[in-house]
Amino acid sequence: MDQLAPSAPPEATSAGSAAVAVVTGASSGIGAETARRLAAAGYAVVLAARRADRLGALAREIGGTAYQLDVTDRTAVNAFAASLPTVDVLVNNAGAAFGADPVATGNPADWQAMFDVNVMGGLHVTQALLPKLIASGAGTIVFLSSTAAFTAYEGGGGYVAAKHGTHAIAATLRLELFADPVRIIEIAPGMVRTDEFAVKRMRGDADKAAAVYQGVAEPLTAEDVADTICWAVTRPPHVNVDLLVLRPRAQAAQHKVHRTS
Ligand code: NDP
Repeated sequence: MDQLAPSAPPEATSAGSAAVAVVTGASSGIGAETARRLAAAGYAVVLAARRADRLGALAREIGGTAYQLDVTDRTAVNAFAASLPTVDVLVNNAGAAFGADPVATGNPADWQAMFDVNVMGGLHVTQALLPKLIASGAGTIVFLSSTAAFTAYEGGGGYVAAKHGTHAIAATLRLELFADPVRIIEIAPGMVRTDEFAVKRMRGDADKAAAVYQGVAEPLTAEDVADTICWAVTRPPHVNVDLLVLRPRAQAAQHKVHRTS
């Protein structure tokens, strides 16, 4: 996607001179809920993703700004960054899993696509916005990794590899920026039931997607994760929630999931 379509400059949002929070992948799931929560917390939220129709509807709902963006397109990301006068918070949420094949037979194109969005996408947006986050005097960058950033599981090879990459960026950046006024927060959720994530992973097979959550009483929701992100972002600027792992109570570890059926 190379089309750039900001619906309005951030300063035109109803939030006026409020601090600006950019949320990537804000057209569904965790990103959409995070945009809602940050707007409710008083941020002028800039919503970025590829599906402009969904972004526009949510931006109208919360008084934010929609910006159609493919985070894997560096030229587009640079133009996006140039369009924002100031940025205080960046939530690198755009991400995806494709396929559940063993390493032996996994499709390299799926692996590439996962690396592109989960690793390179976060890198592009972070590099492009970093000068403005530093200039804010109290910047915050959130990376949505996953428990897959720490633990391998069968059929998860490409996603696990990509999310390890997301974790590596966050951990490295925190060290490199230790003298700058920017904190790096990594949020690593376990099983989250969102409308699209597992369906996309299973290439539209709704039954396979539903099986991921089969018998689990209460997987995490997008609201649960967004609540956690918003809490971490709204701590005082000297408080850095380095890494926060959250799972549903029924998931004691990656493979240890209590299922009632
Ligand atoms: P969704 O599929 O609901 O949302 C993914 C979002 O990323 C969408 O808004 C999508 O928008 C956006 N996106 C995908 N590719 C691009 C791209 N190239 N450029 C811009 N935006 C893009 O998933 P979730 O809300 O469940 O997941 C959000 C994040 O949380 C992801 O990083 C995911 O890996 C992570 N996560 C999810 C877990 C889960 O179980 N659901 C568990 C742990 C982590 P669009 O298609 O409009 O571009």
